[in-house]
Amino acid sequence: MSDKFDLCIIGGGPAGFAGAIRALDLGKHVCIVEADEIGGTGVMWGALSSKTMWELAKDYDIAAKVDRGYRSAGLIVDYAAVRNTVIQAVKEKQYQMLSQLETYSPMRWKGPGSITFKRGRGTFLSRECIEVTNEDGRQEEIKADFSLICTGSKPRDFPHVTVDQKRILNSDGILNLKEFPKRLVIIGAGIVGCEYATIFSNFDQTKVFLVDHQERIIPFEDEDVSRFVSTNLKKNNVDIFHSAILRSINTRPDHLEVILDFDDGHSEVVEADAALISIGRTPNLAGLNLDRIGLTTDDIGFLTCDENCLVKDNIYAAGDCTDAYHVVTGEKTWIPLALRANRAGWAVADNICGKDAKLSGVAGTAVFKVFDLEVARTGLAVDEAKKFGFEPVKVTIKTRSRAHAHPGASVIHVQMVGDKKTGRLLGAQMVGKEGVAHRINAVAVALHNQMTVKDYSQTDLAYAPPFGPTWDPTLTAANQLLKKI
Ligand SMILES: Cc1cc2nc3c(=O)[nH]c(=O)nc-3n(C[C@H](O)[C@H](O)[C@H](O)COP(=O)(O)OP(=O)(O)OC[C@H]3O[C@@H](n4cnc5c(N)ncnc54)[C@H](O)[C@@H]3O)c2cc1C
Repeated sequence: MSDKFDLCIIGGGPAGFAGAIRALDLGKHVCIVEADEIGGTGVMWGALSSKTMWELAKDYDIAAKVDRGYRSAGLIVDYAAVRNTVIQAVKEKQYQMLSQLETYSPMRWKGPGSITFKRGRGTFLSRECIEVTNEDGRQEEIKADFSLICTGSKPRDFPHVTVDQKRILNSDGILNLKEFPKRLVIIGAGIVGCEYATIFSNFDQTKVFLVDHQERIIPFEDEDVSRFVSTNLKKNNVDIFHSAILRSINTRPDHLEVILDFDDGHSEVVEADAALISIGRTPNLAGLNLDRIGLTTDDIGFLTCDENCLVKDNIYAAGDCTDAYHVVTGEKTWIPLALRANRAGWAVADNICGKDAKLSGVAGTAVFKVFDLEVARTGLAVDEAKKFGFEPVKVTIKTRSRAHAHPGASVIHVQMVGDKKTGRLLGAQMVGKEGVAHRINAVAVALHNQMTVKDYSQTDLAYAPPFGPTWDPTLTAANQLLKKI
């Protein structure tokens, strides 16, 4: 005998959870199937866990400072304690989510709709039938009018390197470490690599080596931004290897040998106690039996869906396992971030209830921290803009995060890109110690509205000395950019 639902959601990360709660709001009977940890990457192995660790590392770094004329005595830190604090934060969020699910379980909730939570791995038997296999191997079948695939993404593997999650880790295994490694090699200097370089370096127990095969770190950012962040990492004792390709990692009883081949022909062996492979992510759709329901993935491996997040017939997809339209290029893109996942899950629930929720797309707006710097971007950098047929021009300006005479101000760099042909605003990147995250959001809104640089330069942005100069840094950048368009 199989249970019958209006909507079956496979995956309980940000996309799946948002979809479940919204469908419940709309009076639907929902089943959510989660194979592992409720909250998915978003809670356990991603935004929440990494940022909690980041905060702890920053607190430690501040406490350990010796340049203020006083110092804390007897400061000690051990990895087990850090790990426990991170897990506590994760568990708190998970209990909150599980409590919501239990409150609306059909056994308790007498209102319209309900949520049934099933722990197990889902796979399609047909478009209306999903098989769930739990940890003990017990199987059951679920029938549903609609299905929502929210199986997220997973860390990309490096060819010929086996991640054992003990000494050779990816971001899913960071919490497996038993102690701070004395030496950590991070392969891949993207956002995740730079964040963990900051975390381990701030705890001051680990010598961090950051390796990227490109000439510059955070290679998707513009050159100026990359250089600025690179200088900051070096200043904080992170050794960076540019243009270095990982050949292999040899595991010795008491250390790892990381062999790097450089563009100029020479090779180096770096000894380390642990290695973190952070070379990006890849959609996670394995084991769903997609071919059985007539679905295929694109070349990169994600499911293609339309503006309503519909893949085909009664099957929808949301979050990191699927693509989105880019608001600047109008083309399909894959930018795995949590807000989009939430929003798409929510939209699917609306759509199965006949609300026609179309998503306009993503601008790739992201912000992260490297030591005391906020680094943010939205839209296109110059190189990307060229690939899409724009005639990009850019300016980079350096100004202050607060009004000139206001105490506590710091330098803020803004780079803005516009299209010479149309005057359209194409993107911005920013680096500074404060005020970067909210400023990038203003530019993101402009991109969603296809504004020109001139339009943006005329926007009425807030001013008060503690928060910014009279001319917000993004306005100054737009004014300068106008001269080139
Ligand atoms: C280190 C790190 C830091 C990050 N920081 C940020 C940040 O600051 N800001 C931001 O916007 N994004 C951040 N992200 C990205 C963000 O975590 C993801 O975009 C988001 O979690 C995607 O949500 P999702 O629901 O699509 O997938 P996921 O969170 O990956 O959830 C998918 C769920 O599906 C489950 N599942 C998979 N297959 C099956 C199956 N067959 N049956 C049942 N269940 C299954 C998985 O167990 C998982 O729980 C970060 C990611 C990482 C790795």
